[in-house]
Amino acid sequence: MSKVIGIDLGTTNSCVAVIEGDKPVVITNKEGYRTTPSVVAFDKNKERLVGDLAKRQAAINPDRTFFSIKRHMGSSFTKKIDQKVYTPQEISAYILMKLKEDASNYLGEEVTDAVITVPAYFNDAQRTATKDAGKIAGLNVLRIINEPTSAALAYGLDNGQSQKILVYDLGGGTFDVSVIEIDDNTIEVLATSGDNHLGGDDFDERIVEYLIEEFKETHGINLAKDDAAKRRLYEEAENAKKVLSCATTANINLPFITQQKGQTYHLESNITRAKFEELCQDLVERTIPPVENALRDAGLSKNDINSVVLVGGSTRIPAVVNMVRQIMGQEPTRNINPDECVALGAAIQGGKLGNQLVPGSKASEILLMDVTPLSLSIETVGGISSRLIERNTTIPTRHSQIFTTAGNFQTSVDIKVFQGERKFTRDNKLLGNFRLSGIKRAAAGIPQIEVTFDIDANGIVNVSAKDLGTGNEQSITITSNDNMTEEEIAKAKWEAEIYGKKDEAYQGYIDSYNEATKAYNNAVNLLEANKKIWDKQKKKEVKRSLNDLKRALAKTKIDKLNSNIASNLDNLATELNSLV
Ligand code: AMP
Repeated sequence: MSKVIGIDLGTTNSCVAVIEGDKPVVITNKEGYRTTPSVVAFDKNKERLVGDLAKRQAAINPDRTFFSIKRHMGSSFTKKIDQKVYTPQEISAYILMKLKEDASNYLGEEVTDAVITVPAYFNDAQRTATKDAGKIAGLNVLRIINEPTSAALAYGLDNGQSQKILVYDLGGGTFDVSVIEIDDNTIEVLATSGDNHLGGDDFDERIVEYLIEEFKETHGINLAKDDAAKRRLYEEAENAKKVLSCATTANINLPFITQQKGQTYHLESNITRAKFEELCQDLVERTIPPVENALRDAGLSKNDINSVVLVGGSTRIPAVVNMVRQIMGQEPTRNINPDECVALGAAIQGGKLGNQLVPGSKASEILLMDVTPLSLSIETVGGISSRLIERNTTIPTRHSQIFTTAGNFQTSVDIKVFQGERKFTRDNKLLGNFRLSGIKRAAAGIPQIEVTFDIDANGIVNVSAKDLGTGNEQSITITSNDNMTEEEIAKAKWEAEIYGKKDEAYQGYIDSYNEATKAYNNAVNLLEANKKIWDKQKKKEVKRSLNDLKRALAKTKIDKLNSNIASNLDNLATELNSLV
């Protein structure tokens, strides 16, 4: 067995780690970074770009770029590009394929096995979709584990004394909170809660909305209608948000944001931390109820918690830290890298499942006990959710129930399975339907069919049934529109493999294009700022050089970039830079 890798498949960024000796280490990607943007794009030649390369070209190719695909996992979302319909599983698979390739290069051997993390609050459909993405990427997914649990595993290795911790995990698209007990060699999740649709993306969105509103007031133009402008706004909003984590004001400067009736418009603004906090106050407050629920379900109060561990990039936002400090009444721990600890924990679990840990090492002895985040129920008369397995039950777990017929000589029964905490099934997530068929003809209430629901160590639901009258096993498949069939997975895997990936040279061409655009914008700004200072001759030379570059950029088709065009852009940009 090759080495098992641990993958944190994040909304915004992903990270991969592996065990070396008896410690997990993060694997640096081909581009030299420790995390990889979870971005996938298709250029006009239908070639696939993943990671930094996809992110860098997003502003000029917004309709063919996928961001935050994790938000759609387990849903029926699809998007058609060049006659091909892409599912979230396939897009996630392309990210996983890149991580797998980077890990294989790093280890010098083909990687085949992985542990992948998901938000603790992911439901069955989202977990199954993640596992299917792994299969499409050609990975043998040994286990799906929860992100906060994974972080606790990494944390527990370094801070092993017995304690109860609360992991507060606010990433790019999801929020999770888990209450975890670390004992000598056991990491036991006591309760978990969260919000699958809350994360850093929402904070970016608030800044974007603010800028769009401001621009509308100043210029009467609605940037929301301009896809390319919006992509640039999102990028800049995320940067401003990060700046505001350490400074009190962030400047936002987007030259040439749009063109209307031949006139070019620039966006210049600044946003203070106080304004940002005002715009996002409700988002921060939305994390309070899950914290309270998790504590209550664990039967603990905030005073029982020894450490509060912050995970996920969005916990760098000062307003988030302040809120955590306030509700927990203690200073959160910062001695763990919020971007890497999830992948590190997954690598430990991978090493354990693959028997690749040093025998007797601390990591090899840690036992992990996780819980299911949501109750499992079936629909009974009146659309009521009848609970079979309560949330926060330790997994794996199983529950059996006897079903019978309601009518005479009925030979089949339909059963609907739901996940969620609400009383009525209409408010919960339908995992799927299944039909018990082949029941022996008999009077109503006579047949006895024992149906067993089990939630495996991945948090995924499996159903089996037995006719107690005949002892026959019934085969059952839960069918849900949002899940892929084995045939669909096999086809997607084949397509993922045959689709060529962009050669590396293209990355350089995109860089040249971006650098030239930057040089152009910079020179326009400098020319304007120095119009009273520079002499006539200098202004003339800059204008000529600007025009040359402007013409070259206008002629450039992003999908037709080649080495000649790129080096021409490089030369023109260098000349312009040397003049200003
Ligand atoms: P994760 O899913 O854990 O990789 O978190 C990614 C999210 O963290 C994205 O929304 C990032 O914009 C956000 N993030 C990363 N660094 C910072 C920072 N310094 N301040 C605020 N948010 C950040």
